Amino acid sequence: MNFSQKLSNLKQSHLYRSRKISKNTQNTQMTINGKPLINFCSNDYLSLASHPQVKEAFKQGVDKFGVGSGSSHLISGHTPAHHALEEALADYTGQKKALLFSTGYMANIGIFSALKDELDWVLQDKLNHASLIDANHLIGLPLQRYLHNNVESLKKKIGKQTELAPHSITFGGQGLVVTDNIFSMDGDQANIKSIEKIVKKYNALLIQDDAHGFGIFEPIIPKNSIYMATLGKAAGTMGAFVAGDEDLIDFLIQKSRPYIYTTAIAPALCVATLKSLELIKHGDQNTKLLANIRYFKSFSKTLNLPITNSNSAIQPFIMGSSKKAIHISKKLINVGFYVSAIRPPTVPKNTARLRITLSARHTQSQIKQLLTQLKYAIQ
Ligand code: PMP
Repeated sequence: MNFSQKLSNLKQSHLYRSRKISKNTQNTQMTINGKPLINFCSNDYLSLASHPQVKEAFKQGVDKFGVGSGSSHLISGHTPAHHALEEALADYTGQKKALLFSTGYMANIGIFSALKDELDWVLQDKLNHASLIDANHLIGLPLQRYLHNNVESLKKKIGKQTELAPHSITFGGQGLVVTDNIFSMDGDQANIKSIEKIVKKYNALLIQDDAHGFGIFEPIIPKNSIYMATLGKAAGTMGAFVAGDEDLIDFLIQKSRPYIYTTAIAPALCVATLKSLELIKHGDQNTKLLANIRYFKSFSKTLNLPITNSNSAIQPFIMGSSKKAIHISKKLINVGFYVSAIRPPTVPKNTARLRITLSARHTQSQIKQLLTQLKYAIQ
């Protein structure tokens, strides 16, 4: 295999990905290779990753439980800290039970792997996260997608599916509809209520990935659906969970290989996440973030910058070509702002973008400076 040739092809087409050594000092302030920058691309939306109370809880968790769980959940790794966090997450989401996974990527693979032998068809939103696409590939059913956030397209495809389904019980076998709630690269929100109606009509199951909404927006969780969210974004820690009814969670415990065959996350992380959840419920950080989102959108309008319909912490500016996205990102780095350029295959062809993410700890002055510099850079 000529890896060197393959890498040089990626470089030539501006699709080569490189890591930088970033050091986050105070969440919004970071250094990359020693250069101080204001970070506008972290998913630490509520600035809880470095919140003093969350850090303190983490330390206390280490004192109490050590640094590792030592085992998978089903052997001896499921500690009181894991259990307490699962109960708190179930309570927060208004569901009977919650189940912790080590990462969101694994949770999505884990849900699909448990459902593998139960499904006849799957329909996914065109812009769902890569982990949901990979999970679909894993179970061997065709990847079928409806137009992004388009309920009419979902209706049409689901109708067709049920006509074609091989062993119809009521409406053509067990179907699965899958959507992000807040879309990771666009920041817009799925219409869960409308999707719920369609899913109900066709007796299908719904999976909602709320990685980017959890902790910020009130979750909308239809009955008999599967809700999944991650803890490495608004909660500021790491891990993920699935919430739903008792039988669903018990079924995942029995059947989900990425749940069964991996080490449970560090118990101290659960103690820290319990503190994050307390702060989320308290609401101060959320209020700050939402005010920043409103300010960002209104100041963008003042500058005539092309904002989208996103009302979340994710605010993209579409640049088109990968070359342009990288060029503008570099210009912003030169003036002290870090906004990463997101390119295909993470986003569709010709929609390379700057994906700006806002956090509770950004100041209005930082947001104003960023947008002013962006306006200047794209002119
Ligand atoms: N789902 C979505 C929508 C995501 O954006 C991400 C992370 N970028 C994941 C799942 C995976 O979560 P994790 O980082 O915890 O693996």
